[in-house]
Formats: sequence, structure tokens, C-alpha cells
Amino acid sequence: MLRPCRLYRKLRWVYGFFIRFINLICPASLVYYPSNFNGGIIVKRSKKIIVVAHCILNANAKVGPLAMYPGVLRAVMDQFIEDGTGILQLPCPESSYLGINRWGMCREQYDHPNFRRHCRKILTPSLDQIETFVAADYEIIGVIGANGSPNCGVTKTPSGLMGGVISDINTVEAQLKNFCYLDQNGVFFSELKVMLSNRKISIKFMAIDEKNPSSLIIEK
Ligand code: SF4
Repeated sequence: MLRPCRLYRKLRWVYGFFIRFINLICPASLVYYPSNFNGGIIVKRSKKIIVVAHCILNANAKVGPLAMYPGVLRAVMDQFIEDGTGILQLPCPESSYLGINRWGMCREQYDHPNFRRHCRKILTPSLDQIETFVAADYEIIGVIGANGSPNCGVTKTPSGLMGGVISDINTVEAQLKNFCYLDQNGVFFSELKVMLSNRKISIKFMAIDEKNPSSLIIEK
């Protein structure tokens, strides 16, 4: 008589053989026949992940009224969905700190120790997830930020320190004259980079440019 563990192994082999046979005669029944087929369990996961700034999947988080797409930036995301890539959405540091009715601000205004602490706090669960995936040999294809954002900009971050009251027209004019874009990470993404580096994780940084959403800008 077979012992329970031998019986289990036997049954697992028979079940595995059955699944392989079904897959052979009807390939459409299984989209993906994995090399890590394990005892009859069909593993369809791609083991590929893309990390994205929150508003790439949810334009509603942006500073009002900005948003060149209603919800998901499909011009960028469709390719990953079709490719079977999993999507890890980062939190939005601005809407979680100042809400939906915040004003648009520049990098210097967000560059404050307490805001950076907020960034690190809300990034920690995402970093834990990324670290777990990396440890399990998943491929992290990259992180996609949003150029033009003071927080999630990768190669284009708005700058122009002014402050002051919005009702003073002179302040607004001076602010506009002072405004420029810097070729550097926004505050949130600079914290993300340091936290990844502290965990010895190296990931490619990319950015969307909403004026040309179909092509991603890769950081050098
Ligand atoms: S802070 Fe980042 S996630 Fe939030 S709206 Fe701006 S670009 Fe999007």
C-alpha cells in the first residue's frame, strides 16, 4: 500500500499529466503554459511589474483643473496591460498632504523636512512591496513618473521660489517671470530614489510627458 506522501506525489503527477494533455489538445484553454508548472497548478503570472505615479492611473488626483485624460493614461498603460505586466500604483503625495483643492506649487515649496517625512511615510508600504517582488525574482521594468510635477517629475520639475499672497497681482507676475523647469527629480521621486538605494534596489526611472503621452522619457 502507498504511503500518504507517495500517494500525494502520484496523484499530483497524474493531475499534472492530465493538465498537460488538455493543454496539448486545446492550447486555447491555457493562455500561458509556464515553465514553473507545479503539480497541476497553472501559473499564468508574468512576474513583470511596472511602478507608476498615482495619477497615471487616476488623473483625478491632479491639481485642478489639470488633466489631459479623464482617468487612466491609456496611451502609456495599454502596452503594459496587453503585455501582461502587473501595475504597482504609488500613492499621491500632494493629494494625501494638501487635498484635492490644493494650489499648483513649485519644487522649492514642497521641499520641506515635514513634507519629505510625509513622502517617506507613504512610500514605505510600496517600497516593502517592491522589495518583496525583487527578492522573489520578479522583474521591475521601471518606475514611471510625471514630468512637469514638482513631486513626480523625473527629468522636468517646475521651479521658481516665490510664495506670498495670490491676491497681489505683482506677486503673480514676479512668480511667472521666476518660473522654469529643472532637469532633476521632484521631491517625492528624489525620496523614492534614496529609499530604493537604501534597500539596494536599482530600477530604471522613466517619465510621461502629457503633451506627448505615447512616448516615455527615460532618465539617463
Ligand atoms: S503628486 Fe505625483 S501622483 Fe500626485 S498628482 Fe502630482 S504627479 Fe500625480
